[in-house]
Amino acid sequence: MADIIRLLPDHVANQIAAGEVVQRPASVVKELLENSVDAGATKIELVVEEAGKTRLQVIDNGFGMSPADARMAFERHATSKINLAEDIFRIRTKGFRGEALASIAAVAKVQLKTRSEEAELGTEIKIEGGQLEKQDFCQCPKGTRVAVDSLFYNIPARRNFLKSDAVELRHIIDEFERVALAHPDLHFRMVNNGHDLFDLPPEGRRQRIVHIFGKRFREKLVPAQEKTPILALEGFIVKPEFARKTRGEQFFFANGRFIRNTYLHKAVLQAFEGLLPDGAQPGYFLYLELDPNRIDVNIHPTKTEVKFEDDRAIFTIIRTALKHALGQYSITPSLDFEADRTYRNTPPPTEKPSAPGITINPHFNPFEQGNFRGSASQNKPISRDSQEWESLLNQLPEVPQTGQGQMAIPASAGENSGKVFLQIGKKYLVSKHGQGTLMVHQNRAHQRILYEKLLRNLASANVASQQLLFPENISLQAGELELLEAYFPALRAMGFDVDRFGQGGLVIQAVPLALEGLPLQAMIEEILENEKNLQESPEESQKEKMAQIMAKVAALRSGTFLAADQRAQLVDELFACESPYFSPEGKKVVVHTDLADFDKAFD
Ligand code: ADP
Ligand code: MG
Repeated sequence: MADIIRLLPDHVANQIAAGEVVQRPASVVKELLENSVDAGATKIELVVEEAGKTRLQVIDNGFGMSPADARMAFERHATSKINLAEDIFRIRTKGFRGEALASIAAVAKVQLKTRSEEAELGTEIKIEGGQLEKQDFCQCPKGTRVAVDSLFYNIPARRNFLKSDAVELRHIIDEFERVALAHPDLHFRMVNNGHDLFDLPPEGRRQRIVHIFGKRFREKLVPAQEKTPILALEGFIVKPEFARKTRGEQFFFANGRFIRNTYLHKAVLQAFEGLLPDGAQPGYFLYLELDPNRIDVNIHPTKTEVKFEDDRAIFTIIRTALKHALGQYSITPSLDFEADRTYRNTPPPTEKPSAPGITINPHFNPFEQGNFRGSASQNKPISRDSQEWESLLNQLPEVPQTGQGQMAIPASAGENSGKVFLQIGKKYLVSKHGQGTLMVHQNRAHQRILYEKLLRNLASANVASQQLLFPENISLQAGELELLEAYFPALRAMGFDVDRFGQGGLVIQAVPLALEGLPLQAMIEEILENEKNLQESPEESQKEKMAQIMAKVAALRSGTFLAADQRAQLVDELFACESPYFSPEGKKVVVHTDLADFDKAFD
């Protein structure tokens, strides 16, 4: 048989390699930004057009390249960053595989302009689909400018695979933020379709975080640090009360590189254990410095997944440091008797030791909430004396809570069913029903009611909306407006009058009739939190998801007192719904018990 094995031509090999390195415009952004950081730039600018599908450009003031290097840079395995195989164990730069530029040039039209400090003239190179089109001298400032046009123009299958502009832009912003957070000492700028998205002057880590994620972060951050022979840890955690449900801000950096590591993420989760509301994610920005010899960043071409030699020790250090940080800022819940005693073995700074003595609190009531444990520790027997009954009775008349971002239940037009409902724990409504009881989850019931109203709104051509007396301006973090704009059509279809307003903000002038009093800021935040989720669902169910989000934000919360007639109205409206038994998210709204359940309970 004839010999059939051949070496792949370079441009084919590069295209194949590109599949690993360049998945989407954001991957190009990551590689180019990292090259600029490696080139010692102090100012780096990213220019994005149409989510990088048309053009991506990175401009830096780094040390540039000689004409020969400029050409070499596009060869596969061409790198100035390592010489010996052992060098990869000492790596301090972002790149070192020498694959990025070759891969990008294999799947796009690339133009490079670069000049080093000493050279009078710069070099211009054009490469399309891996083929050199032009190399010439040019006039250009010191540094390097790489423009990547028409990504995947020669691989239609990959181009078609790209997601909507909003999704691709989100990925680009993610990469930009990671590099910018890793290097707060450098000036970063990002321009999207001619608008300034970020302009981040050199600053400290805390300012950089606040600059990127908004002023709201100023009060949210708690510093954490720890220094051990194997690891220096610095950074910030987000106070648990600000934890987000989804898309939490979670950043690990190792030696200046954003990394992903599920094992270390678990260390954070353990430190936060018991402090986060259900389903919430901790937020963190943690910078690890350790001997590069003891990290393996080589296990994945994009180098975000890394392995640590001492991962167990690192795990413990992180967990302990964060627990300490959480404790120091006394954001842990007050200690109770069961609490882990090793947890805070030094008193927090504000607690001064005082001489033992006896103080008497004349208002002390052992049955007031939170005092039970206190009284137990004083060995006072808890007696069922009249005081207890009195304090219980005192709790009965409750003051209705209104406003505060919660919506009142609209008065229903018709008569209500006349059933009498007890409100239990300001959370459940219970009534006698047949031979047993009917129990309703008030928050979920209201979610269901609002959800169906919104869907009806969406279905009708003529949406009932209500002009706001005071239009609400909502300011957003950089990049958020661009993401939200994708939902303007859906929001308008639901009855919102929403538009861009000024630089990076939006204004809402009218809301759907069903959602008067809706806390708009909270709604927008919730949409942003669920944005990835929304993007990934088809257009039709996108609207349903949106209605779900709004119903959730607007619904009466658990813990809201309802007057007797409001209870009955809520239940009546619930049973007027098409699917009263489940919340929009599919959780139980109604539970029946019958006589047999009572009998069982008394067995
Ligand atoms: P790597 O970064 O892994 O070395 P790349 O393909 O990203 O590989 O880049 C190849 C080489 O091109 C780099 O090693 C560097 O010498 C040079 N280079 C790339 N981008 C720049 C830049 N912005 N400024 C100066 N030199 C650069
Ligand atoms: Mg590189």
